[in-house]
Amino acid sequence: MEERVCRICFSEEQQQEGQVLISPCKCEGSQKYIHLSCLRKWQRTVQLSGSNHPEEQDAEDRHTVCNVCKGTFELPPQDRAEMMSDLAGVHASDIAPGLLLVTKRNTESAAANIENLAIRAFIEAKAAHFRRAVYILTEVTPGARDGSDVVLGVNLCRALDAPSLECLSCRLTPDQLAAARTRGVEVLWMNGGPVKPRQVSAMAVLRRVRERLVEDVQVLLSAEGAWVAQGSLEAVLALAEEEAALTEGEEVAVLAWAGFAQWSRTQLLGEMARGSWGWCHGAVEDVRLSARIGGLWEDLRSGCRLQWAPSNELSREFEQRFAAQPQDTQQVEAVTALVREFEALRRDTEPSIRNGLASNRGRALQSCAHQ
Ligand SMILES: [Zn+2]
Ligand SMILES: [Zn+2]
Repeated sequence: MEERVCRICFSEEQQQEGQVLISPCKCEGSQKYIHLSCLRKWQRTVQLSGSNHPEEQDAEDRHTVCNVCKGTFELPPQDRAEMMSDLAGVHASDIAPGLLLVTKRNTESAAANIENLAIRAFIEAKAAHFRRAVYILTEVTPGARDGSDVVLGVNLCRALDAPSLECLSCRLTPDQLAAARTRGVEVLWMNGGPVKPRQVSAMAVLRRVRERLVEDVQVLLSAEGAWVAQGSLEAVLALAEEEAALTEGEEVAVLAWAGFAQWSRTQLLGEMARGSWGWCHGAVEDVRLSARIGGLWEDLRSGCRLQWAPSNELSREFEQRFAAQPQDTQQVEAVTALVREFEALRRDTEPSIRNGLASNRGRALQSCAHQ
């Protein structure tokens, strides 16, 4: 009787998931069997090592055709979205509003070796959005089955330097914000992310105002006795003023973001698989804590809520790429100052938003920009 062992790892069939032996091509004898997981791993290795160029990708067939018998594998390779969600150990449907993404990076820099400070600052201006960052997903717009969904989120951990209302797509005036302050509502400005730095969105944690549907506002998170209203600044501010009127003396905070981060679902799953992000479901308390800039990232990193991708082909490559590099403190400070200027400049010069998101909130923000 022939011995049933895997042609890759030479071990027998196991009960665990993926450890069944299959015979995916026309090979016989010692080449006949392979673990489902071993073939999957081989296919991924080919897919991940391959060129990004579509023509060369088409020419690559080592993951679809057996190199011994030239037969087509009966196990078709996964599409990219499926592969990434498998590597990350996260179900595609978990990518939903309310999910927290916590960056692994704190100070290490991919640009630390670049001599030219201006070029370095240019790279840093982007990287700064993803350092000590906690993004909360606010919107997922379904795309095709290939994982092209549009995923949006804002950073809960980064204050906005010197916000000026004229540079933002927002119809509120400084006087209106001052009036809100006298009614007990404080607006805290946050840097939402690298995309559309003039576009404004907001959140508030509400306790006395009951959870309900309001135009331009969604219930992002909900817990017993509190909820997070998320949407246009005008609508969230109105709810916060309602809350303040019911609250004696206690200040109500509105978090207002300029800009946001955007991914496709596949891209985000790829970053999660690579180990760039840990994740967990957000809680009302997280949004409340985010007003205390900086603390949330540390809390989540040191706590036990976060899930990380299991070690995989992509995460190992990532670890090597981001091995710690020594940094010169003076240069770091100079670059940080340049980054701040870059960002302010971008906000001042970007044309106001006319083509926003294809969502209610996007349309609301656009109409706010028109008026
Ligand atoms: Zn095997
Ligand atoms: Zn074969």
